[in-house]
Amino acid sequence: MICNKNKCTGCFACYNICPKKAIEMYEDEFGYIYPHINHEKCVNCGLCKKVCPVLNNVNSNEPVDTYAMIAKDSYKRKESSSGGAATIFAEKIIELGGVVYGCTYSKGCYIKHIRIDKIEELKKIKGSKYVHSYVLDTFKNVRNDLNNNKKVLYIGTPCQIAGLKNYIGNYNKSDNLYLIDLICHGVPSQKYLKECLSNSKEDDISFRTENGFVFREYDNNKIINETDSRDFLYYRAFFEALIFRNNCYTCQYAKKERCSDITLGDFWGLKSDSKFYKERKKGVSLILINSKKGEDLLRAAKGSMLLEKREYQEASNGNNQLNNPKKKNKKYNKFQKLYIKYGFIKSYKKINRFALLKNKLRKNKLLSKIYNYIKK
Ligand SMILES: Cc1cc2nc3c(=O)[nH]c(=O)nc-3n(C[C@H](O)[C@H](O)[C@H](O)COP(=O)(O)OP(=O)(O)OC[C@H]3O[C@@H](n4cnc5c(N)ncnc54)[C@H](O)[C@@H]3O)c2cc1C
Ligand code: SF4
Ligand code: SF4
Ligand code: SF4
Repeated sequence: MICNKNKCTGCFACYNICPKKAIEMYEDEFGYIYPHINHEKCVNCGLCKKVCPVLNNVNSNEPVDTYAMIAKDSYKRKESSSGGAATIFAEKIIELGGVVYGCTYSKGCYIKHIRIDKIEELKKIKGSKYVHSYVLDTFKNVRNDLNNNKKVLYIGTPCQIAGLKNYIGNYNKSDNLYLIDLICHGVPSQKYLKECLSNSKEDDISFRTENGFVFREYDNNKIINETDSRDFLYYRAFFEALIFRNNCYTCQYAKKERCSDITLGDFWGLKSDSKFYKERKKGVSLILINSKKGEDLLRAAKGSMLLEKREYQEASNGNNQLNNPKKKNKKYNKFQKLYIKYGFIKSYKKINRFALLKNKLRKNKLLSKIYNYIKK
């Protein structure tokens, strides 16, 4: 391994930097992805270790400004996970002749980062996919774009942004590179998600709709399956912190100092004096501005936004991941042991019989009344 396996974020920085293509990324028995060095190709140049963000800290800054935001265009907001900020920033960069890198879904449950340079392509990267996205060769493509004097916006989890920053090196001198990170809970493996899909027809998915945390599968833009987060076992396990990569539970990016120009998330902690207070259910973006470049990008994009300046403390009080990594579920090891034998669905049901029964009762009014009566 290049760094300790329990710390590796699967950011692909080592894979991108290796001049001999000696690093292959492999999935372990749970589907978590790690680098593996092919020693027949390796020439011991040491670049992979130099670029790894686990071994080499990236520069981070405390946010200078905090905003609550909703997109002026209600369609953009409806299509996004929270207030639609990511889409607006991406659109602005493309309007300025630049390119954007973000996460997309493709048939067969393959989630990866892609490059887009047309407004019509924005829909490909809209919406949060609550799973590990593979950035593949995109860091090399970013360098190529920067060499061609293109403006580049890269959107990803903080560990992906840290990997890219170390890969590009001399980041502060790359005036054309804009980095946006997401406040991040943690990422499960793609293998887990694949086992929970209803069939193999889907060509797109979404984790959130105008009705909140609802999982949908689409085929040709038509909804072919819709499941509430309480009934979708993958979603339950995600919220219960049962299935993240091991390193996520000690995430070094779950803090105030950010390694990006702009941080985006949900403004869960918004107080009642905010003009967007009543809009929370439909999604209000939290925007943290962390650098001068972040300020410039916000200035350029703010014509499409309804913005309100807020206090950082308000945002951080309502969003745990700005303070600490998620705590590992006590059943994590048990789940993994069962998983090897039974797969996702059976293992989850085995360790959560009581909670699932309660969920069934909740949906039946009469049974729910009886249950509450017995409980009393
Ligand atoms: C794994 C994960 C965990 C998150 N946890 C939290 C949290 O605990 N608290 C919180 O406030 N917010 C969290 N978020 C962020 C939140 O869900 C929204 O993505 C964010 O508020 C931006 O929403 P938006 O409306 O501006 O943009 P959207 O239109 O929803 O765009 C989302 C952007 O994120 C990128 N993206 C989507 N999925 C991934 C992925 N798997 N990996 C990398 N990039 C991706 C897309 O390229 C797109 O540009 C998380 C996001 C992810 C992907
Ligand atoms: S030491 Fe150099 S050649 Fe070997 S895997 Fe690392 S980057 Fe590749
Ligand atoms: S560079 Fe990223 S993928 Fe490679 S070892 Fe370090 S954390 Fe893991
Ligand atoms: S929790 Fe931390 S390590 Fe895990 S995906 Fe998110 S940013 Fe990366």
